[in-house]
Amino acid sequence: MSFTKHFIIKPGGNVRLSQFDPDDTPECKDKSEAEAQLARNVERLADLQYRFYAESKRALLVVIQAMDAAGKDGTIRHVMSGLNPQSCRVTSFKAPSTLERSHDFLWRIHHAVPARGEIGIFNRSHYEDVLIVRVRNLVPKSVWTKRYDHINDFERMLTDHGVVIRKFFLHISKEEQRKRLQQRLDDPRKNWKFNPEDIEERQRWGDYKRAYEEAISRCNAKCAPWFVIPSNKKWFRNLAVSAILVETLESLDPQFPKPHPGLVKVRVR
Ligand code: ATP
Ligand code: MG
Repeated sequence: MSFTKHFIIKPGGNVRLSQFDPDDTPECKDKSEAEAQLARNVERLADLQYRFYAESKRALLVVIQAMDAAGKDGTIRHVMSGLNPQSCRVTSFKAPSTLERSHDFLWRIHHAVPARGEIGIFNRSHYEDVLIVRVRNLVPKSVWTKRYDHINDFERMLTDHGVVIRKFFLHISKEEQRKRLQQRLDDPRKNWKFNPEDIEERQRWGDYKRAYEEAISRCNAKCAPWFVIPSNKKWFRNLAVSAILVETLESLDPQFPKPHPGLVKVRVR
């Protein structure tokens, strides 16, 4: 099965998250089989990354967005575990600093975009500026409504400069979030992850859902597609994200640069 074809959101429609089952595990009912496939994908990604870096013609930007506790960190930890840190960078976007707020919302984002040959992973992203910012009225509506166009223009510009963009929404149910937040309270090793604000955000679940639906529907150009990944089962989430990244890099088919013609005669003594 092509995970890309299965989970890509076709441009043009109005996404309704209620139509996606967060428990779905298409063509893969078995956790151990999924984990074995994940291990193969992780190895494959390492090889593709090596070629991608050697080629250094394009960059890959992976955007990860989700409700709290949906597993952004876990996805990065498992799927990217085989990557060489030399040409891979994870950037986590928190509430903007005073300096960041004194610039336009894309200023800090642009700075973190991967260079040619690199893979950049965004743990949260510029989409927060039409998600939490919208839900919590952090700027007037007249400001955030323009951002969908700004984001589309920005992503198109990046694409024109060789940045390949893949955006993942890790889709969990409200009940699954409840369980995971409760675990953060119950397990001393997870207490540090608990943020009392997560409870407040959870009360706005419906507002976030609508904000995500609009962001995914309106900012989903062919060149920068969204994938809605069923994420109630962590093993399936990891498998699906890893498979889509493998498929993406395979389709780019990175090539080693041709050796310098003079090298043929060189002998190292
Ligand atoms: P975890 O899932 O482990 O809790 P996290 O990504 O939620 O990780 P936190 O430090 O708990 O990390 O939260 C970061 C917070 O920063 C989130 O609530 C997010 O919505 C917020 N944030 C990110 N970007 C912006 C932005 N542009 N404006 C306002 N808030 C933002
Ligand atoms: Mg959090």
